[in-house]
Amino acid sequence: MSGEQPCERPVARVEADTSRCVSSGQCAVTAPLVFDQDEAGQVVVLAAEPGARAAELARQAAALCPASAIRVYPVS
Ligand code: SF4
Repeated sequence: MSGEQPCERPVARVEADTSRCVSSGQCAVTAPLVFDQDEAGQVVVLAAEPGARAAELARQAAALCPASAIRVYPVS
């Protein structure tokens, strides 16, 4: 099984601080459903309220981000 179900319940809120981003691209590689990069390489959040699977990948991306630019908050 792959991909995010369109109606999946959000379990997290994702924020990225572009003032900290150093355009390494780790987030877009780790969680491509949640993050992309703009033409300058800066992070772009594609899914600010991901479901469970994407949220887990977003947490991994946050842990890997060399600039600590990503925050993933739980939502109830
Ligand atoms: S991993 Fe961090 S520093 Fe790299 S592009 Fe993503 S937000 Fe920016």
